[in-house]
Amino acid sequence: MSTGRLTIDLDALAANWRALDAMSDPDVQTAAVVKADAYGLGVARAGRALAAAGARRFFVAVAEEGIALREALGPGPEISVFSGHMPGDTGLIHDLGLVPMLNSVDQVTRHIEALPGHPFGIQLDSGMNRLGMEPAEWLALRDLVLAEGPRLIMSHLACADEPGHEMNARQLAAFHDMTEGLDVPRSLAATGGILLGPHYHFDLTRPGVGLYGGQPFEAAQPVVTLDLPVIQTRALTPGESVGYGNTFVADLPMKVATVAAGYADGLSRHLSNHGVLFSGDTPCPIVGRVSMDLIGVDVTHLEAAPDHLTMLGPHQGVDDVADMAGTIGYEVLTQLGHRYARHYSRGRS
Ligand SMILES: *Cc1c(COP(=O)(O)O)cnc(C)c1O
Repeated sequence: MSTGRLTIDLDALAANWRALDAMSDPDVQTAAVVKADAYGLGVARAGRALAAAGARRFFVAVAEEGIALREALGPGPEISVFSGHMPGDTGLIHDLGLVPMLNSVDQVTRHIEALPGHPFGIQLDSGMNRLGMEPAEWLALRDLVLAEGPRLIMSHLACADEPGHEMNARQLAAFHDMTEGLDVPRSLAATGGILLGPHYHFDLTRPGVGLYGGQPFEAAQPVVTLDLPVIQTRALTPGESVGYGNTFVADLPMKVATVAAGYADGLSRHLSNHGVLFSGDTPCPIVGRVSMDLIGVDVTHLEAAPDHLTMLGPHQGVDDVADMAGTIGYEVLTQLGHRYARHYSRGRS
C-alpha cells in the first residue's frame, strides 16, 4: 500500500467540543461548525461524534452541505446555513429542515415568500463586510423580520484570533447597537471569540477550527495524524541532486527517502526544501521540491531506513505545517487530500 494514512481521532474531536463548551456559562449553547466537509475531516463521522458529545446545533456554509449532514444526524439536530437562502435552495431548505441565516433584504423576501413560517435566522454585518445586513438595512427591515420570529441573530468577528485588536471591541459595540433589547437569541463568537471571554458569548457560540485541533485554540487536542509510507531510500554522493529543478544538491554523502504524497494530497509546494517530517521523535528535513505525488526527505541521520515518516503527529500539528507553508491551519486541514486511507479512531492509536 503506498497511500498515506490519515487518522482522525474522534475522541479528541469530542473532547475539544466539550472543552470549548465548558468555556462559556452553562446557559450558553455551543454549536459546531462543520462546513467544508467538517474542515476536510469528513462531515458524517465528525457530525455524529459531535452530536454524541452533546452538540445540538450545526452550521454549514451552503445548503448543499446539509444533505450529507442531515443524513448522518437524522431529523433531530438543527442545521443552519451561513450563506442563507439563495435562489434554488428552497427545496433543500424545506426537505432537510435547514435554517438559513438570511443575509439581505432579497433573502428575507425570498424566504418569507417561498417558505412562510419556516424557521430562519438573521446575519448582521458588524464591520467585516463579508456577509450579513448592514445597520441601515437592518433598521429598515427589523420590525418586519421580528414579526416573523427569527430563531437567531448572528454576526462574525474579523480579528478574533488577535485578542488585542481594537476591531473586536468595535464589532462587539456594533452588534450590541443592532440587537440590544430584542427578544431573540444572539451569537457572535467562533473559536477566537470564545477565547475573548464572556462578553462575546451571548446565547450561542459557533466554534469550528478549535474542534479540529487548530489555532487559536491553544489547548486543543490534536485530531489528525498523517503518516506517509517510504517507497524507496537511496544513497547520494556529493554533487547529486534531488527532484525537479535540481533545487537541492548534496554536499556530503547522504540518504534520501522518497515518501508517497505531494501537492496533489494537499502538501504545499511551499514546503520544498523547507518542511520537515518525523521518524518517531527525530525530525527529517524535506529536500528538493515537493512534487505532485512524492517528496524527498533527508534520513541520513537515522539508524535504519524508516518504513514511514510522519507529517502530522505529536511533534508537528496542522498549524506547524501551516507556518512552514506560509498559510493557516484552516487551509492545511481543508486541503487534506482524498487519496489518503482515512481511519477514524477513538483515542490515540
Ligand atoms: C467558519 C465560521 C465559523 C467558525 O469559525 P472558526 O474560526 O473555525 O471557529 C463561525 N461563524 C462563521 C460565520 C463562519 O464563517
